[in-house]
Amino acid sequence: MTTARGNRPSGRRFGCYNFEFAILPRRGLPRLYPEGALMPETLQLASPAPLTSLTEDEVLFRDNVRQFADDKIRPLAREMDEKAVFDHGLIDQFFQLGLMGIEIPEQHGGAGGKFFEAILAVEECSRADASAGVIVDVQNTLVANAILRWANEDQKKRYLPKMAADTLGAYALSEAGSGSDAFALQTKAELKGSDYVLNGRKLWITNGKEAGLFILFATIDASKGYKGITAFLIEKNFPGFTVGKKEDKLGIRASSTCELILEDCRVPRENVLGEAGKGYKIAIETLNEGRIGIGAQMLGVARGAWECAAKYAQERKQFGKPISEFQGIQFQIAQMATEIEAARLMVYNAARMKDAGVDFVKEAAMTKLFTSQVAERVTSLAIEVYGGYGFTRDYPVEKYWRDSKIGKIYEGTSNMQLATIAKLVMSK
Ligand SMILES: Cc1cc2nc3c(=O)[nH]c(=O)nc-3n(C[C@H](O)[C@H](O)[C@H](O)COP(=O)(O)OP(=O)(O)OC[C@H]3O[C@@H](n4cnc5c(N)ncnc54)[C@H](O)[C@@H]3O)c2cc1C
Repeated sequence: MTTARGNRPSGRRFGCYNFEFAILPRRGLPRLYPEGALMPETLQLASPAPLTSLTEDEVLFRDNVRQFADDKIRPLAREMDEKAVFDHGLIDQFFQLGLMGIEIPEQHGGAGGKFFEAILAVEECSRADASAGVIVDVQNTLVANAILRWANEDQKKRYLPKMAADTLGAYALSEAGSGSDAFALQTKAELKGSDYVLNGRKLWITNGKEAGLFILFATIDASKGYKGITAFLIEKNFPGFTVGKKEDKLGIRASSTCELILEDCRVPRENVLGEAGKGYKIAIETLNEGRIGIGAQMLGVARGAWECAAKYAQERKQFGKPISEFQGIQFQIAQMATEIEAARLMVYNAARMKDAGVDFVKEAAMTKLFTSQVAERVTSLAIEVYGGYGFTRDYPVEKYWRDSKIGKIYEGTSNMQLATIAKLVMSK
């Protein structure tokens, strides 16, 4: 069990986080701390604060997740990638530490934290391993988020305590024929007595292998187009539900991506999430939030690769001196650091906007678009800093590069983000 290593008073367990320090910001003006190695050493400002400022409690939370990621996730990352299997013991530890129910209220067994903390957790886990990052991300920013926002009290009582304790969630929208055009989905749900009977197949579902609870979208009336789409809460042992083939992928290999098969799958009527026919709204609005999570994942991936490259440049000698002494390498490291800083500003700002309850749709789309570009560029440059060694699996940077690629694809491709941004900036 990882515990706090900060210099905070220990022995206090706050909410469901199992780090020994208080997590939630206190009332009043928080003391502000700098974030990350690229920021100045000391900083104490009144509002409005720099975008990268964190409260004392956020710094402690971030540092503890970082320590956990370095100690427990990083050592397993290469083997999990090669075997394309995520370590179950690690998932158990995510639950024990309270990382799987960050925004779930304490009354339901969660940590009662903010969206911003979920974003910090995704970033820090992804810095060690992007597969770990996406597991924490889907659980918090998609599944728990959707339940918190759209479930009725009975559903919250039934599912939130499980999600905080031991049940992994998955979010099943895509199908073989409907990706970007998600609302062209074909999975059908027919009301028969007190159950809906679902038939169809879902594709690409993250956490599919390990999840116990699925938010799954199907249509109750295809003739109504998107207005027939309905969200269902499906438990993995519901009759007629099976998990199919797991994809063999380029990156985030340890994160399972699976087909789901529904053959006369019976789902009690009371497991409709939100209103029947309003699933499209749940899908759109949840994914808007999820995109900030993918931004955090990409930020973590870029940081992880940058840190490796900066360190390696000081160790590797050519022409009788460390390659970090060549201006060409210094400029690459500086360029990467600058792009990471810009990505961080976007991720943190979008997350703060979400927590502040202001409209963040444009910023979330821009964040996902930009951070995935940064992650791909930074991880690619990191390989070049390593030279030939970076091209081998003996060093970590090729994995960061492979892991970066998914940022431009899932939760809406880059083109779909551009379409959203264009619509919003051109409608004014
Ligand atoms: C590893 C992984 C995990 C995933 N996890 C999940 C998950 O947990 N749940 C889930 O529901 N889905 C998941 N997905 C699915 C993912 O969201 C889709 O792959 C994505 O939305 C793109 O859909 P597609 O693959 O069908 O590509 P397509 O929609 O076929 O797109 C192909 C290309 O055409 C472009 N394109 C399409 N339409 C337009 C347009 N109108 N204008 C311009 N360009 C366009 C796209 O940008 C892309 O470049 C996952 C996918 C992967 C690879």
